[in-house]
Amino acid sequence: MEITKEQFIKEFKRRLTDEYALDVKDATPEELYQTLASVVKSGYSDIWRKTWKNYIKEDQKQVYYFSIEFLPGRLLKSNLLNMGWYELVDSAFKEMGLSLDEIAEAERDMALGNGGLGRLASAFMDSSASDGLPVNGNGIRYKYGLFKQKFVDGYQVELPNEWLNQGNVWEVARESKAVDVKFGGQVYLEEVDGVLQPVYKNPYIIRAVPYDTGIVGYKNNHVNTMRLWDAQIPASEEVKFPTIESRRKVEDLTSVLYPDDSNEEGRLLRLRQEYFFVSAGLQSIVRHYRKYGKPMSEISEHISVHINDTHPAMCVAEFMRILLDDEKMGWDEAFDQTVKTMSYTNHTIMAEALEKWPVYLIERVQPRIMQIIAEIDRRYALELAKRAETDLISGTRIVNNGIVHMAHLAIIGSHSTNGVAKLHTDLLEQDVLKDFYHLYPERFNNKTNGITIRRWLQIADPRLAKIIDKTIGTKWRSNSKELHNLATHLNDRRLIANIGKAKHQNKVDLAKYIKQTTGIVVSPDAIFDVQVKRLHAYKRQLLNLLKIVKYYLDLKDDPKKDVVPRVFIFGAKAAPSYHYAKSIIKCINEVGNLINNDKTIKDKLKVVFLENYGVSLAEKIIPAADVSEQISTATKEASGTSNMKFMLNGALTVATLDGANIEIKDYVGEDNIFIFGLKKEEVLQYEADHSYQASDYYANDPILHRVLDAFVDGTIPSIGAEGAEIFNSLVHANDEYFVLRDFEDYLRAQGEVEKTYRNPSLWNKKCLVNIANAGYFSSDYTIQKYADEIWHVVPSDPLDGKDCGANGQYPL
Ligand SMILES: *Cc1c(COP(=O)(O)O)cnc(C)c1O
Repeated sequence: MEITKEQFIKEFKRRLTDEYALDVKDATPEELYQTLASVVKSGYSDIWRKTWKNYIKEDQKQVYYFSIEFLPGRLLKSNLLNMGWYELVDSAFKEMGLSLDEIAEAERDMALGNGGLGRLASAFMDSSASDGLPVNGNGIRYKYGLFKQKFVDGYQVELPNEWLNQGNVWEVARESKAVDVKFGGQVYLEEVDGVLQPVYKNPYIIRAVPYDTGIVGYKNNHVNTMRLWDAQIPASEEVKFPTIESRRKVEDLTSVLYPDDSNEEGRLLRLRQEYFFVSAGLQSIVRHYRKYGKPMSEISEHISVHINDTHPAMCVAEFMRILLDDEKMGWDEAFDQTVKTMSYTNHTIMAEALEKWPVYLIERVQPRIMQIIAEIDRRYALELAKRAETDLISGTRIVNNGIVHMAHLAIIGSHSTNGVAKLHTDLLEQDVLKDFYHLYPERFNNKTNGITIRRWLQIADPRLAKIIDKTIGTKWRSNSKELHNLATHLNDRRLIANIGKAKHQNKVDLAKYIKQTTGIVVSPDAIFDVQVKRLHAYKRQLLNLLKIVKYYLDLKDDPKKDVVPRVFIFGAKAAPSYHYAKSIIKCINEVGNLINNDKTIKDKLKVVFLENYGVSLAEKIIPAADVSEQISTATKEASGTSNMKFMLNGALTVATLDGANIEIKDYVGEDNIFIFGLKKEEVLQYEADHSYQASDYYANDPILHRVLDAFVDGTIPSIGAEGAEIFNSLVHANDEYFVLRDFEDYLRAQGEVEKTYRNPSLWNKKCLVNIANAGYFSSDYTIQKYADEIWHVVPSDPLDGKDCGANGQYPL
């Protein structure tokens, strides 16, 4: 991937002419982006080729990470950085009178995920390539990414996100590697030569076509593959889909990402999507394995399949189907290989997000899969009965009362189940999955989530990155634990002032963006108090909003009150069918209208809700944040990852003791984070004994009383129905997420925030402590632990100059 600036400019100009017949000065940012991306892709393609050939040559065990979501965001800068081309291209562009930043904005976000789950999958792709680990992504190439969000009269409106309209330079379609996925019909077993074989009646076949994207490792000559599947109608099946409508049904399979990460909707289509990418992925993996003549009985020594949350849990049954029906393996051996091959990550304990499917729906999608699930379940119950632990049986069965529990399928059919933060794993072991933990303690383990430091610091916050380079050198860029060397500079006043300056400049940039996109003028001298994440009741954007209303009422009572000015910044999409979450959006927007237009408030409070939160917007907001709001009800946020991004960018966290917030607190120490609220034990106690009385808080706390009344007495205009809905949920429906219970302590913590912010050197010193400890949360380390402890795979030897020859065929 070596290139000189002169070579690069020459190549860039040549392609611009070849492709568009244009000179640099005549091209649009879009054309310049397309051209640059194609040069970049050519820059790593040969390494990509060598990487997979080397895997074959070295006979390396491969991991396949199955995830129904990937959320990579933009790839241009990340690829430039990882290839070691960033500075060169930046400077070459300056020479040509172009701005890399401007051109990078022309790339559409690849938004094939809802939030944390998809972002984690993409962080793992980047990190496994950067660690030289043999990890491949497997997912769905949705034609429409997550919806584009707009606000109209303060309400969320969802528009289609046609991210593929301008094409996608990074992907390679591999028609020749397509596989057929069988759906529907009926199936029965027939004895052929003494073995039972399934006979299908009236199934239909969908052709799965893979699109591969190279995932470039950080300066290590290593490029992995993320494979996303598209659905097509095979020629042989065309007569079965004669109408436009029936053809559309097939296209729908890979058309939309379900814009909801907790509830299931469009249920049958969602289930078909799950089977589609599971079957396509596993069939191609086994087909590839078979080519090299190794026995099927050893397949688990050569491949690992990871099930990211329950959506790909049918991997267990589909792998069994392939081994039993296609490879003619006996049940016991097939199941042994399946368990050794599969591993599973649990991402939530929220009941509504743990998938459960009715038997009849799975039968409709693929009857053979339902047969196999039922048989796994039957044998599981028999086996348990032998261990005389009958009391555990009913709670852990896969199939119960006509319902299939996908998490149970994933646990029983795999050798590893991990949670995503210490607290979350404890809850799995002691509470949600305690029966399974009792049966299979050795299968449970924790892998705290992580983030790509490269994207969130080097790319998103170049000012801060430069300051760090000057202070501790550049080694942290490949080994982020080195950031901890900053902790030896806590008394370096110049450094601390510089960190404050960089933050201020980032705030000036964000203020410009806010002005451009919303018309609201905010002062970069105010505290930027930020909550960005999906909109969910458990994440408690509402708690934040109650605080804002309280501050507003205080200032109305006493306009001269001495307060540190604050800008409250929100970014959040609500699932289109999640009525309550959308009402919260409306209320935040109307509180914003009220406050931002109140002349008596001036610059003391501003409320900004930026539209269309996603990875690229996060990259603009997070570097400019002073305060990171991580205020979920304890036990509800499995890990959280934006909490890590904020600390890395030198924001101070206001947090409950939930998810990875606890681990953040343990690293930075209690003095460098603002902790408040109910603890895990208290929440569990309330949930067990139902002793919580939300209405008491409304009745007895005059401040809260007044704040809540503002939602229903006209103080906040234009929220008639929504205000009442929220008031009722908190006061009359007993406030499921303990917002009122935590309100007072939250205000106390926020008072500490204000007090600390009045002392800039103290504030910035705490920021420095946070930055110094953020390196521990790199997904480079997380994925290395998955590799060591779950998958048992090792990094490739470096390719350096190796000729990988012509051996092997393209994988899969
Ligand atoms: C990191 C990230 C998330 C996850 O945020 P949480 O606060 O951990 O829920 C969601 N969306 C985007 C775009 C992100 O970058």
